Amino acid sequence: MKKILITGAAGFLGSHLCDRFVNEGCHVIGMDNLITGDLKNIEHLFKLKNFEFYNHDVSKFVYVPGNLDYILHFASPASPIDYLKIPIQTLKVGSLGTHNLLGLAKEKNARILIASTSEVYGDPLVHPQTEDYYGNVNTIGPRGVYDEAKRFQESITMAYHTYHKVETRIVRIFNTYGPRMRLNDGRVVPAFIGQALRGEDLTVFGDGSQTRSFCYVDDLVEGIYRLLFSDYVYPVNIGNPNEITIRDFAEEIIKLTGTDQKIIYKPLPVNDPLQRQPDITRAKKILKWEPKTERSEGMKRTLEYFKNLSEEELYKSEH
Ligand code: NAD
Ligand code: UDP
Repeated sequence: MKKILITGAAGFLGSHLCDRFVNEGCHVIGMDNLITGDLKNIEHLFKLKNFEFYNHDVSKFVYVPGNLDYILHFASPASPIDYLKIPIQTLKVGSLGTHNLLGLAKEKNARILIASTSEVYGDPLVHPQTEDYYGNVNTIGPRGVYDEAKRFQESITMAYHTYHKVETRIVRIFNTYGPRMRLNDGRVVPAFIGQALRGEDLTVFGDGSQTRSFCYVDDLVEGIYRLLFSDYVYPVNIGNPNEITIRDFAEEIIKLTGTDQKIIYKPLPVNDPLQRQPDITRAKKILKWEPKTERSEGMKRTLEYFKNLSEEELYKSEH
């Protein structure tokens, strides 16, 4: 049985990856310090023999007994309000945490895949973004703590590949949504759905002309799975190229939820990228991958998840 370590296991993406690899018959070690994650995302796995959980901060030395075949490094705050609240931990998990996990991969002779992001392109001057674009990031802006940690993460990963011959993979993930996102994590999908379900007006930042391209989580997991088992070491964009303005997206949510909420406008956060759309030519060619889930279908499934939350969870505020 192959053994895999998944960091960030109690988070949105990490928990879906744990499900996938448990179902593939792997022995999964989930690791998380629960700083933005929640054990309820993985509690259904606790009864299984091929799943273990370690509560650990990966920015500190990481120890795993015995052999290890694969590592998926997904630990990191991922929503702008999270990484603005905990900027130093964000820098540390992307840098020191990645260093620790690369060291572990080298020691165990394991293949490691790291979760990078479309944020390495910053506020992009090239559209759509191909992997060859170097990006446009303000190093000292508020988002810099996340973007630069991820850029460093890619550099040190390539260095371990080149100098230590570690088997590495780099996925650049574009905005992904689905069940198990935290209702109050500030990201636009749970923000709008939460507002609609509570009967509040939807808060569009700026004039809403900025764009994003949303990928359903199951499609993302499939892309990551294929990348891990490919032999490709350079970064690969995984995302859904179906681009939409945030204003139109708000209107879609209002229609989907059947509410009669209004849109209200709030200031655009500093350095908020004005456009984002993945060029997935590389993923199509190398992984034979492309997203399958239409936004209408993915949003329906996501809405179902949020509708099933308790009143208490729906009205809980973290801020
Ligand atoms: P999330 O906040 O739901 O999950 C992150 C998990 O990492 C949480 O459970 C958190 O507790 C854990 N964590 C954070 N710091 C840690 C540390 N020092 N030690 C151990 N655990 C730690 O976020 P997510 O959306 O699931 O994102 C997961 C990964 O994917 C992140 O690396 C993120 O940068 C990347 N990513 C996500 C998206 C997206 O759209 N969801 C887009 C691009 C990149
Ligand atoms: N956004 C918004 N209203 C909200 C939350 C977010 O208009 O209540 C906007 C945000 O300014 C950005 C887009 O939606 O332009 C996506 O934001 P998110 O935090 O989901 O992801 P990211 O900016 O990291 O792509």
